[in-house]
This record gives sequence, structure tokens and C-alpha cells, in this order.
Amino acid sequence: RNLVAIRDLKKTYRTEDGEKVALHDVNLDIAKCDIYGIIGLSGAGKSTLVRCINGLEQYDGGSVIVDGREIAVLPKHDLRTVRRSIGMIFQSFNLMPSRTVAGNVELALLDSGLDKNRRKSRVKELLKLVDLSEKADNYPNELSGGQKQRVAIARALANNPSVLLSDEATSALDPNTTKSILKLLKHLHDTLGLTIVIITHQMSVIKQICNRVAVIDRGTIVEEGRVFDIFANP
Ligand code: ADP
Ligand code: ADP
Repeated sequence: RNLVAIRDLKKTYRTEDGEKVALHDVNLDIAKCDIYGIIGLSGAGKSTLVRCINGLEQYDGGSVIVDGREIAVLPKHDLRTVRRSIGMIFQSFNLMPSRTVAGNVELALLDSGLDKNRRKSRVKELLKLVDLSEKADNYPNELSGGQKQRVAIARALANNPSVLLSDEATSALDPNTTKSILKLLKHLHDTLGLTIVIITHQMSVIKQICNRVAVIDRGTIVEEGRVFDIFANP
């Protein structure tokens, strides 16, 4: 069954000079174990779509269903549960500078119900998963961009999410670092059966890792299919 199902999604922003339609007639089906790319130019509606999927933005029409639950109509408690089932990584990493690498990852476990010892061993396990065990006691400003993103990936996976949502996560990284992060994501997909949604403006990212892709333009999906078919050279 589909892990993410989006039907006729519509989102309008109200501004001083009227209304701005950011999304209209968006339909998407993301299956379990997909590495699904969503690509579009700046202003196409990618961030708005991400915010509708993780419950940060109320939408005006249609539905967003993640792991069997509709996002927009949830009471606050259930929304928190859904957000825990969606791991997020960002272009800007969003790490806390005053906390160590291990401390940053542990933050995601604070309301997991695990006691201190179990949290520590889970953090160890997660850092090993992203190959960053030796940096556990370092601070974010002592890390390279790629290492920071690995910490963010470990944090995003802390609560065993059913989907990892990557919002321009490699956009600030050089091509080699991008390659190594995508290789890590592919490895996590292969070993954990993780479903990954990658939002990007970079075609090269889609080609390197995704099996399916949707092209978004001016608020709607204009093309969708297997990467192999969509980007096949005629
Ligand atoms: P992308 O992430 O692809 O760059 P966005 O989702 O940020 O696209 O934006 C989609 C459209 O919605 C753009 O035209 C943008 O100007 C507009 N938009 C985004 N956020 C707001 C907002 N808070 N208020 C008004 N318009 C917005
Ligand atoms: P608020 O207190 O306004 O509800 P949130 O808890 O929604 O704040 O978001 C706080 C921060 O966490 C924001 O920077 C947001 O982008 C980020 N965030 C939102 N959803 C997730 C998620 N599923 N995983 C990780 N970070 C998230």
C-alpha cells in the first residue's frame, strides 16, 4: 500500500495583494521502499508541499495521508505521532550548536519513553549507522558539512520513522560530499527498507538515487513516473 497518498491537494496563501495559489490539483502516490524524487524550480511549490506533508502547514483542499493517517485534521497529539513517523533533513542541518553530536541525536529521543541508558545506547547505534561514532563528543562547528548532515540523518532516524523526507539536504554540499550522503541514504534504504522522499532542484540528485520522480511546476505535478523512463534520452 502507499505510504504517502496525496489527493487534489490545494494550498493558497493570503497576501496583502490578494491570493497566491501555491499548490493546486497535486496528486502523488509514494509506495513503501520508494526513493521518490520531487523536482522543480525555485517557487514551484516544493517547500509548501513538504510543509503540508509533515503537518506544518494547513491546506485548503484535498488530502494528505501518511501511513494511513490524514495529516490536516489530526488533533495535536496525533500530529506529533505522525511527525515522529516522518524523519526530516534540511539544507541547513538545523543542529543545536551548544550540544555535542551525541547530544543533538539524543534530543530526538527525549519524549520517546526511553530511559537515559537506553537513550545513550540508541544514540551509539544511530551514530554507528551513519559512520560517525568517533565524533560523538564533538560540537557541530567542529564538523564538515557532510558530517553535519550525517548527524541530522541519525537524529531523523532516531524514532524509526516510516518515511525520511529530505528537503534540499544536499544543496549546500559539494558534489563529492553529495555523492557520499546519497550513498549513505541508499545504504539505509537497502538495509532498513526505509522509504525516502527527496525534494530537490538538482537533476543530478534524482538521477543518482531515485527510482521514481515527480516534476512540479507552478504548483502542480506536470510529469510523474520511473526515473528511467522520464529521463531516458530519446
Ligand atoms: P519552492 O520551495 O519550490 O521554491 P515554495 O513552496 O516556497 O516553492 O513557494 C511556492 C509559491 O508560493 C511561490 O510563488 C512563493 O512565492 C509562494 N509562497 C510561499 N510561501 C508563501 C507565503 N508564506 N506567503 C505568500 N506566498 C508564499
Ligand atoms: P512548533 O512548535 O511551531 O509546532 P515544530 O515542532 O512544528 O514547531 O517544528 C520545530 C522545528 O522542527 C522546525 O524547524 C521544523 O522545521 C522542524 N520539524 C518539523 N517537523 C519535523 C520532523 N518531522 N522531523 C524533524 N524536524 C521537524
